[in-house]
Amino acid sequence: MISIKKYFRIIFVALLLLLFCFPQTALLQTTSVEYICGGTDYETPVYVIKTDYKKPAIMIVAGIHGNEKAGIKAAEYLKDNLHIERGTLIIIPKANILACEENVRCFPPEINLNRIYPGNPQGNSVEKLAYEIFSLMKRYDIGLLVDLHESIEFYRKNPKNYGQTIVIDSGDDYLFELSSFLAEDMNKGIIEDGNKYQVLVDPIKGSTAYCAYYQLDIPALTFETCRKLPLSFRIGEQIKFVKIILTKWNMLAVQR
Ligand SMILES: [Zn+2]
Repeated sequence: MISIKKYFRIIFVALLLLLFCFPQTALLQTTSVEYICGGTDYETPVYVIKTDYKKPAIMIVAGIHGNEKAGIKAAEYLKDNLHIERGTLIIIPKANILACEENVRCFPPEINLNRIYPGNPQGNSVEKLAYEIFSLMKRYDIGLLVDLHESIEFYRKNPKNYGQTIVIDSGDDYLFELSSFLAEDMNKGIIEDGNKYQVLVDPIKGSTAYCAYYQLDIPALTFETCRKLPLSFRIGEQIKFVKIILTKWNMLAVQR
């Protein structure tokens, strides 16, 4: 029979070997999948990327609106390709999975998921979905919420639309400084002035970000690319936005 001491020695040697063979992945993240609205038509996966250091915890949500593809594609890419060495990342690529499958903004069309937070566990299916996302934010005690969206028009052309903006629901110093920093960093890579991002202080009652901020005291950002730009560019921008945040929070693993 193998002694406990010997057992631990074998584990130790195995870990050393792992570190030696895979320095970029060993002792880093693990990804697990859980589901919200399990057993219903709205059942959708939540990817939880964990490291040895729980904090900071950041939630990335996409697919609140099903036809805003760049955020959805970016979230799917990020859950498969991100390497973090610190903190916890919670990624929901297709929040309203039925809207995403139908390629429509809302499903059912008359209920906008982004206006009904914090939802209601006894309400209709979309209210239940909002409530489950709201509950996840609390359960993981997140320190930042990033909600990925797209708009049909540039904000600068028609201020009813939010294309190429970072929307915050309060002008508090922290949120304003954070979003201004992000806009500035994103704009470094953009040549055409018309495509540059601007910060918008516009409280959208009932939205994911509004609820995170006003009900749970969680800093929250809504990122909006403009659908008039090419899809591949927009996906790249959404990925870049999240990566800048993760770099700022010292979560991204250093590329070796
Ligand atoms: Zn949207």
